[in-house]
Amino acid sequence: MDHLDVLCNRIGGRPIGSSAYESATIWAAGKFMEWGMEVVLDEVGELPVGFNRGPWSGRMLSDEGMILHFATPSYTAGTKGVQRGHVLIEPRTQAEFDRMRERLKGAWVLIYGENEGWPIDFSALADSLRDSIKVVNDSIALENNKIKKENQENKEKGLPEKELQPLNEEPVLFYREMREAGILGIIQSSKTPIRVMYDRKNIMNMTFDNLPTVPDIKLDESQYYIIKQMTEERRYFLLEFDIRNQFRPGPIPYHNVIGIIPGTEYPDEYVIMGGHLDSYDVGTGGVDDGSGATPAMEAARLIMEAGGQPKRTILVTLWAGEEFGLLGSQSWVDRNGDKLDSISNMFNRDGGPTVTTGITVPAAMREDFEKICEPLNGINPDFPFKIEERQPSEKPEKAWGTDSGPFAVAGVPTITFNTGDTKGYNFSYHEIWHTERDTYDKSIREYQEHTAIVTAVVVYGIANLDHLLSREGYWIEKPVAEKDVVNKKKKNK
Ligand SMILES: [Zn+2]
Repeated sequence: MDHLDVLCNRIGGRPIGSSAYESATIWAAGKFMEWGMEVVLDEVGELPVGFNRGPWSGRMLSDEGMILHFATPSYTAGTKGVQRGHVLIEPRTQAEFDRMRERLKGAWVLIYGENEGWPIDFSALADSLRDSIKVVNDSIALENNKIKKENQENKEKGLPEKELQPLNEEPVLFYREMREAGILGIIQSSKTPIRVMYDRKNIMNMTFDNLPTVPDIKLDESQYYIIKQMTEERRYFLLEFDIRNQFRPGPIPYHNVIGIIPGTEYPDEYVIMGGHLDSYDVGTGGVDDGSGATPAMEAARLIMEAGGQPKRTILVTLWAGEEFGLLGSQSWVDRNGDKLDSISNMFNRDGGPTVTTGITVPAAMREDFEKICEPLNGINPDFPFKIEERQPSEKPEKAWGTDSGPFAVAGVPTITFNTGDTKGYNFSYHEIWHTERDTYDKSIREYQEHTAIVTAVVVYGIANLDHLLSREGYWIEKPVAEKDVVNKKKKNK
């Protein structure tokens, strides 16, 4: 938790490309060195620009007033200082656009759809896709005008009215035109806690001359609803935002941090443990993945503090860019093909601050694990540890959504500890997953501390065997019955 305190509360949220990510790599590398380990700052790639998130605030200026609860994705635009403006609901047809054309300048625009964490794509390709929907909407509107006219006549004759066709409510159909007209920003409704990620579609094409220009605000749905209603009623009020989303001139390289405890007898054989060092920055990565990276660091510290000298090499891997697509782990696997057959296991922790409850291993590893895990039930009676038997599972063809994925594809065993919220801290992964709630206080001290100790014992034990762990019966290459595969894949994650 001390490591996590530094990572979250001194350094902060840390997407790759941010100054905070660089601070995190320097700090973690420094810690490994301080504990007497070797360190590699392992360059993975470069981003064309970087991004630092500053503070953000907003309010509604009206009789009642309201402090606004919102967030913007990383690598999207901030405001030009404090910006105040009136509110419009976005146009869906050319006629609606023409009707508000002059009022768009200086307006905050409520857009359709619901926030899923990603910014609205501002690329020319996205504009052209939206253009085709506009054509459809214009023809629906034309049809609706005819129906309205008929209804007028029918009404006079006492005949029933025909229903209008609904318009397509794809968000920001007129994004390009609205930007050109000078809107201040777009506002979309969001469930809470608010989830925001980054501009995955455009990040690699960004340069300092073509950075995003329009703030992409995801607003608490209860406030969105009130503001939308007030706008429909054409009431007079303003919204004010101050969003300090800042960019950094690139290219910005990003690195895995790899702490090494060299093996004394089998230096070219490995046990890997770690988690990802990067996180989103709307929170501080207290859980995703501070709760995975820091127990691995602490396990390494414990091993070093105890004077551990394992027979085979322990790699403590703090991966870069997991959130941007497993960049660090995939790159390491691609560049270290010669090592993949010599890895006993890759331990990845990226599922929350829950406590170790056991481990599920194939029959061929059972004896080794019985021996290695023997001390674990003597650590803390609150946290019993159970070894369970793993059935072979199909080797995945595509990496699953965390850093053990590329290793599994390459055939490396990726056993993780079974974990649980055994004492009942009411932890919810969904609550923190890429949301504003992913902060230090969501991690669970006694779970994290116990997990670090268990990890140290098990990883050290595996590194100290006189053989690599057997891979017999771990993966199977051929597809088995569909149902089995799904069950096993779930378990394996
Ligand atoms: Zn994660």
